[in-house]
Order: sequence, then structure tokens, then C-alpha cells
Amino acid sequence: MSFSTLGLNPLILKAIGDLGYSLPTPIQAEAIPLALKGKSVIAAAQTGSGKTATFVLPILDKLAGGETQRKKRARALILTPTRELAIQVHKRIQDYAKYLDLKSMVIYGGVELAPQKQQLIEGVDIVVATPGRLRDLYTQRAIHFDEIALLVLDEADRMLDMGFIEDITKIIDSLPEERQNLMFSATLSRQVRELAKEYIPNGIHLSVTKDSQGSPDIEQWITTVDKDKKSALLSQLIQDNDWSQALIFIETKHGAAKLVTQLEKRGIQADCIHSGRAQAIREQILADFKAGKIKYLISTGISARGIDIDNLPLVINYDLPFPADEYVHRIGRTGRAGAQGQAISLVSKDDFKNLCMIESRLGHLLERREITGFVPRKAVPDSILNYVPKAKRDENGKRIVADPSLKTGSKSSSKSKLKPNFKAKPKPSSIAPTSAKSRSNANSVCQSDVSQDKPAFNPWTDSKK
Ligand code: AMP
Repeated sequence: MSFSTLGLNPLILKAIGDLGYSLPTPIQAEAIPLALKGKSVIAAAQTGSGKTATFVLPILDKLAGGETQRKKRARALILTPTRELAIQVHKRIQDYAKYLDLKSMVIYGGVELAPQKQQLIEGVDIVVATPGRLRDLYTQRAIHFDEIALLVLDEADRMLDMGFIEDITKIIDSLPEERQNLMFSATLSRQVRELAKEYIPNGIHLSVTKDSQGSPDIEQWITTVDKDKKSALLSQLIQDNDWSQALIFIETKHGAAKLVTQLEKRGIQADCIHSGRAQAIREQILADFKAGKIKYLISTGISARGIDIDNLPLVINYDLPFPADEYVHRIGRTGRAGAQGQAISLVSKDDFKNLCMIESRLGHLLERREITGFVPRKAVPDSILNYVPKAKRDENGKRIVADPSLKTGSKSSSKSKLKPNFKAKPKPSSIAPTSAKSRSNANSVCQSDVSQDKPAFNPWTDSKK
């Protein structure tokens, strides 16, 4: 199927032609025609699947040729969890709408209110916003919602994880009831499904399903190491491999700044972004990283979602995140648009619980490789595939075992539906394998009911099993 068969405005087709898009991605092929017909859609789709164009193109098509907005009003509202994602979505709108006479703007916190208020007074068609700042502006009557005809909730799961539920529901309750809704979420957690049920009861559910076409190709492996040796190990890996670029995730702001210093002491130039840095600096650093001016970027979770970096070859988890979905989003920064990627995690004993939860979520164990000179004094136990985080107890205080076959150190049981899927891959000479690796596939779309929480998760599909 080509873009021209989707029924989009020729000026939009011209713009996406300029960007070199030749064929719609599976989610675009499925969702755009539905959205053009005015249907509400709830889609399980990752960043990297082409989801932004999936909602932006129908919005542009619908708004093109309409009347210019009255002041303080917009016709389409796109909510995103982070400033970075809001900025990126807005940039895409500008690219896709370059031949159209439409005005868009981006609203987020951490910067002055006045310029955003002024832009609203001048009138816009599309607002991309983070929920907190948008609600502030609404409360101050700087924006009115009475003409919003289209609502997009982008990365809905992330917005809920970040605690935006109250802002989101208050905003939605203030919108006109007659409107089209498009909701995108990497995972369809119970909370996301409840939100969809409440606010988009007639939405058509789409989910990306397994297919060999267009699957992100990410080689994932871990290495175990003592916590106090992580920075030395990271430095050695960087020096041995001289990767062209890497995005290195770490849990805390303080840890990010400290790691920059530790790497610099060993002659490795790096920079860091986290929520403690000024917005303008964050944007500049991200732009420099995207432009290849920064080789090693250390980041807290703020870059885990949404951010699209062309040809990023490597993601390193300096520590393992919680919840497990965050791991999926972090590694999803690499292996995009058909490129090959690599995701390496440095795992100390402290990370063990998170490792088990991540492997349970993935449905397979991650390959372990040993790096000479860094074998940990505090060994990291064998993983437990079907990890149960907290023992439940019955009314007599007796531990309820979820599955009697699950014991510390056990690999997946032969009866388990979650079959490990390992394939070995050539590796740098200083790195010896202790286990094996696996890959995951994605990307066709099926129209369906919302998928339920599931034990095994394929990061690229979040498919209905
Ligand atoms: P997204 O999932 O929206 O973040 O998009 C991921 C990347 O895919 C971005 O760099 C888009 O510009 C690109 N992209 C989106 N749709 C297409 C398409 N149909 N063909 C080629 N690239 C695309």
C-alpha cells in the first residue's frame, strides 16, 4: 500500500515525499484511513513505529483548508508526557505541514509563561502540550477548549506513570464531548485500558503484532560487575570499542553528573542531561548529540521515550531501571528505522531484582558476557524468569507461591509458555559469553480488542498473544 492510497491531502503527500517516506508503516496503513473517517483509535505502538505521523497526518488533513482559529483557541490538542517529546512532535508537525497554512505551537513547563500566552492570543490550529503546563494555562484562562475537535494522547502509559492522571482527566473533562480521540501507548497496562474505557468507549483498538518485516534488530546482553567498578568497566568498554556514539542511562541526576566527571578523568568526553538542568541546556545537548557533536551522552529516564536519534548504534544501561517497561523504552532508542543496534547493561547485585523483572517482561533471559578483570566479588545470582516481586501471604501469614516451579536460580520451566529464545552473536575479543542472546521482531498491525497484561512481552510488538 502506498501513501497515495490512504486518501491524504496532496500537499501532505508532497511533504512526506520530501522526507523520503515511500511506504506507510503498518500502524500508519491501518490507523490513518480510520482516523480520516473520523474514528477514534486506541493503538499499542512504540516510538519508532511511525506513530507520530499516524496521528499528525490525519489531523493536518482534517484541519487543512478550515478556518483560522479564534484567539486563545485551537482545533487539535496533542498531549505528551515530556517536554522533549512535545518539542519533537511539534517539529514533525512543522515538517509534515510545510505546504499547509496551519499554525501550531508547543506548550511545556520550565520556561516562561508569557510567550506561550502571547502565541495563544495570536491564534493556533494545533497545540502540542505537556499536561501540567497546559492545565496552568487553562486555569489562567489563557486557552479555551471549546473548539477542540481532535485529541491525541501520545505515550499514554508514560503520562500515567509520571502521575499525570489528574491533569489528563481534568483536561479531558473540559473538552467538548463531540470530538475524535487518538490514543497511543507503548504498553496497554490496566490503567491505560481504564482510561481508554472511560474516555474513548467507542475507540477502535489496534495493536502491532509479530512479523518479520521491519523488526528492530537489537543485540542485547548484560555483564555482571560490582557497583563500585561500573565506571571503570564503562571506561574500558568505551576505550576498547571506540563506539561512534552511545546513550548511557543512569537512574539519578547526581549519578549522571558524577559519571561525566569519572569518564573525563579517564580521558573520555561525555555530557549529561537530566531534569535538574535548565530546559535550554537540555535542548542544546540533545541537539548536539543528535548532530553527532557529543559522542557519549549520559541521561536519566527523561530520554527513554519518544526521542528519535538517527542511527544511534548503542544504548548502555549503567544501572537497570524499574519498572521493566522502562528498559524496553530505553533500548528502543537504538535499532531504529531498520538499523542494527546494541543494548548493553551493567548489572551489579543491587540490580538483580530489576534484572529478573526485565527478563520476565521480555519473556527470555538476557545473554551474560564476562569482561576480563571485572568478575564481581558480589556475584549476581542466576536469573529467575518468572519473577514474582513480592510474596503474597494468605490470612494465616503463609506465603502464597504463584507457581511452585519458580525457585531462586531456576531458569524457565519446561512447562512455561515463556520460552527463552537465544541466538549467539559474534562479540569483541575481550568479552567472553556466559550465556546467549535473543532478538525480537515486530511490526504488522491487527485490529482487535485491547490486549491484556501478559507474562511475556515482546518489546517491539506488545502484541495480542
Ligand atoms: P515515530 O515512531 O513517530 O517516532 O517515528 C520514527 C521515525 O520513523 C522518525 O524518524 C520518522 O521520521 C520515521 N518515519 C515515520 N514514518 C515513516 C515512513 N512511512 N517511512 C519512513 N520513515 C518514517
